[in-house]
Amino acid sequence: MTPDPVARLRERLGLTEDRIARQRAVVDGIVASVRSENVDDEHDPEGATLAWERQQAAALLAEAEQERDALRAALDRVAAGTYGVCEECGRAIPAGRLEARPATTRCVEHAGSTR
Ligand SMILES: [Zn+2]
Repeated sequence: MTPDPVARLRERLGLTEDRIARQRAVVDGIVASVRSENVDDEHDPEGATLAWERQQAAALLAEAEQERDALRAALDRVAAGTYGVCEECGRAIPAGRLEARPATTRCVEHAGSTR
């Protein structure tokens, strides 16, 4: 039986959206605590820690948002009938790779040719 890519993509998209919501709450929480404590990012050691934490949380949030966009793009490709085809060589991406990385746009051979 061929696994349904749409179901898999939707499931991942749901998980990723949950992660974005949680991560956004973390970022907001840090921002709020920075405000309420009125700390000085530059000179207060606690402020520097909070600034660092905020940066890490924001990076994780950006990563999750990127994944969400990639999953949405993959769903668009399913609709367009181009899902699972390597954008570099036009060959089918092996099912195992799509299972591991459902939003991928490249086969293993071309995975590292950009970025
Ligand atoms: Zn390829």
